[in-house]
Amino acid sequence: MTFLHFEEIYNHPIAIKSAIGDVISLNVVRLDKVHQIVSGNKWFKLKYYLEEALQNKYSTIATWGGAYSNHIVATAYAAKELNLESIGIIRGEQPQFPSHTLQQAKEAGMQLHFVSRTDFNNKSFIQQKYPAENCLWIDEGGYGTLGAKGAATIAEFIPSNTTHIICAVGTGTMMAGLIQSAQPNQQVIGVSVLKNNLSIENEIKALLPTKDLQKKFLVLHDYHFGGYAKHPPALIDFMNELYHRYQLPTDIVYTSKMMYGLLDLIRKDHFPPDAVITAIHSGGLQGNGSLSQGILSF
Ligand SMILES: *Cc1c(COP(=O)(O)O)cnc(C)c1O
Repeated sequence: MTFLHFEEIYNHPIAIKSAIGDVISLNVVRLDKVHQIVSGNKWFKLKYYLEEALQNKYSTIATWGGAYSNHIVATAYAAKELNLESIGIIRGEQPQFPSHTLQQAKEAGMQLHFVSRTDFNNKSFIQQKYPAENCLWIDEGGYGTLGAKGAATIAEFIPSNTTHIICAVGTGTMMAGLIQSAQPNQQVIGVSVLKNNLSIENEIKALLPTKDLQKKFLVLHDYHFGGYAKHPPALIDFMNELYHRYQLPTDIVYTSKMMYGLLDLIRKDHFPPDAVITAIHSGGLQGNGSLSQGILSF
């Protein structure tokens, strides 16, 4: 896909000391570099859905999401690039001031329908209410086995000597893909950005083929900073520090919380000294546009 920049994905090395002074080797895979809006993991999760739409000559893709969904805006933009129509079913009432994300989706030509929370969860009702001919419906956040299959191809950018892979977890689709493609000596760790999303482990397992079900993975539930899209001053300070120290920009919803969790684990000596950690920068930087100017130093 010509509008994406795979040659710009690179590893951003960072050396961090653990509590006992070991220098831990950490690479950040900068998927955010693929595209400003079709941010990192969203492209990987969408790719097989888009391929299916093109191959089967669908004219429209439709999907679901909240007002701050990177998946919504990525779908809108990718559809536009591929000359497909797009429809976004948005959870909740139409806001008086649409989020930055929704504005961008609209500008990319996505038709937005605001539906109540109850209706949002009733898929067949919504598909009848907003009928679209020749339309491929994609689940919220790209959740599904095709999404995970696409995310599994992120492995191509992970250095082969990696022992631990860490990523942010929303629907868990990206993590399911990373578990599928992980080598036997690699452990996948996910930082859940939703509060008390304790069903996530099972939702991840539901996307794994039988042969991968015995693979061990770890989801951390202590780094959500109050819940999805919550970004208290402590998180903002951390993001500014991360940028100042390592020139690493992160987003307020996902990657900042992942990095916070990771650095906390390193500080607590969770990793052996010979660990080679690869963190997935899954993008999402467009979402920072919802903050007032000047709050972030990047
Ligand atoms: C959507 C998103 C995630 C979470 O991906 P899931 O597959 O839903 O778990 C992580 N990081 C960023 C930047 C995202 O936009």
